[in-house]
Amino acid sequence: MKRDDTVVRPLLDLRHIGKRFELAGGRTVHALADVNLQVDRHETLGLVGESGCGKSTLARVAMRLVPVSEGQVVFDGDDITTQPRRALAARRARMQMVFQDPFASLNPRLTIGRALEEPLIVQQRGNATERRERVIAMLGRVGLRADVAERHPHEFSGGQRQRIAIARALMLEPELLVCDEAVSALDVSVRAQVLNLLLELRASFGLAMLFISHDLAVVRHMADKVAVMYLGRVVEFADRESLWRQPRHPYTQALMAAAPTPGARVGGAAKAVPPTLAGDVPSALAPPSGCHFHTRCPRATERCRTEAPALRAVDGAHGVACHFA
Ligand code: SF4
Repeated sequence: MKRDDTVVRPLLDLRHIGKRFELAGGRTVHALADVNLQVDRHETLGLVGESGCGKSTLARVAMRLVPVSEGQVVFDGDDITTQPRRALAARRARMQMVFQDPFASLNPRLTIGRALEEPLIVQQRGNATERRERVIAMLGRVGLRADVAERHPHEFSGGQRQRIAIARALMLEPELLVCDEAVSALDVSVRAQVLNLLLELRASFGLAMLFISHDLAVVRHMADKVAVMYLGRVVEFADRESLWRQPRHPYTQALMAAAPTPGARVGGAAKAVPPTLAGDVPSALAPPSGCHFHTRCPRATERCRTEAPALRAVDGAHGVACHFA
């Protein structure tokens, strides 16, 4: 999308991001291509698409957990694309991540109190008493009792562990929280509780969020703006109301047709309609020519097989990458 430098700068600005992975035998996976997205302060950008579309790779690129192949990652006006590790460590205090599997992100040998205190120690914040008070206060903010600090990760359920992971991510009071399928592994009964907790914390901490999920209902619940990804590219971008009022890309329309009915509660029993998306996502090792979606698109023409559509504005900030949108 076209950038307007006269408006307030975004907190996270991903500019023309490309990411390639080189495999054995000289093969190359094009995981991301020319992705342009911005997250403003206090705003949640939802990122949705099927498994393998590049959502998690984009999250890791944004956090600089993996290097960028092309483009720029700009945080609060600073280009951090090639920033050295030491400078990046200070920046990381302002941008934190919550992963799908909280158990993997918590050291099983550390007590919860120690795990939460660790970011404060690394960033040299406060003395031992102050850090301890902050740990107890943060456990309270995520709905856990103070005695949780003395226990270990294996003693908790998945939902409790995700609350602990969220508490740890917020210990340094970041401005940006990147949530990568943060509720996907949870039972439906606790999913809504954790989502509502994230909404509460977003409001009270004034967070911006990059919220990644394959679940459209979850993204609709959480996001102000939504980007739909397919095979490493953004194919549709819009504010939430505009997207659900009039999805314009055939892929978004198919995802919505396959999603639970709009009235279904997030985390509740979902009444699904039959999916209309035929086939699997093609391999990123050999993506289809032209529009990557043409092998599954009911509206594909000969032009789609040879010419890749650019993401273009069709209605204000609503952007679509389709020749016929
Ligand atoms: Fe379908 Fe063609 Fe549009 Fe791609 S460009 S989404 S194949 S109609």
